[in-house]
Amino acid sequence: MNRARWPLAAALIAVVGCTVPGFLLPTDELLRDVYVRGPGTLPAVALTFDDGPNGRCTEAVLDALAAHGAPATFFVLGANVAGGRNDELLARMVHEGHVIGIHSYSHGVRALFWESNTARELRAAAAEVEVALRRAGVSDPAPVTLFRPPFGFLTAASARAAAAAGMHIVEWTVSVGDWRSTRRAEDVSTAILAQVRAGDVIVLHDGFGTHQRSIERCVDRARASEAVRLLIPGLTARGLQVVPLTTLFGLAPPSSPPHDV
Ligand SMILES: [Zn+2]
Repeated sequence: MNRARWPLAAALIAVVGCTVPGFLLPTDELLRDVYVRGPGTLPAVALTFDDGPNGRCTEAVLDALAAHGAPATFFVLGANVAGGRNDELLARMVHEGHVIGIHSYSHGVRALFWESNTARELRAAAAEVEVALRRAGVSDPAPVTLFRPPFGFLTAASARAAAAAGMHIVEWTVSVGDWRSTRRAEDVSTAILAQVRAGDVIVLHDGFGTHQRSIERCVDRARASEAVRLLIPGLTARGLQVVPLTTLFGLAPPSSPPHDV
């Protein structure tokens, strides 16, 4: 049982514990399509990165992951993908075994209250990812099937839109405020290792703040990548393997492996 088929109270407790600033729960079966954590039967966790891709920030994170052979999941913003600045980074994610999900197009919250607006955001972001991968030479990109709402903010309308688009909603279980300017890489790694357990979904950010749109504003790449370099050996020492979300949740891997043109 990988999906979060939780009663209302349990879900509320879990999310408050993740310091999500706002959270509206769907009141019906839609909650079944929300993934929060893995089953815990596999000694593994997932590293996830929100708000990118962001040029040098994301490149540094990819370098750190590659140094440890750790596959992660990147929830990218359509607005960051548009324009072609990060095409090669997206292609690199695919080639190095990472999973690409979307974090909406604009990182706005208002759209989440209307099914049609969320659907538009999902379509636009997924389309930007596909176009970017094709521009970078990935001829047959796997469809995007994972959606993490901005701030983890979940509404019934957005859940319906995600389900209609064939996307799973993903939240997280471990968030330690890595985006705060006062957080050092050591602080981030230590805080995560103090609470992590099998099945956890760890959220980090490969950019500065939660609305990073600009390569120029990428001021924390050393901290983000350094946190990864500190964290992965610590996870390994605890017997926890880093796996993509699709593995942690027991979801089918991308159906069509990419091929270079
Ligand atoms: Zn975000």
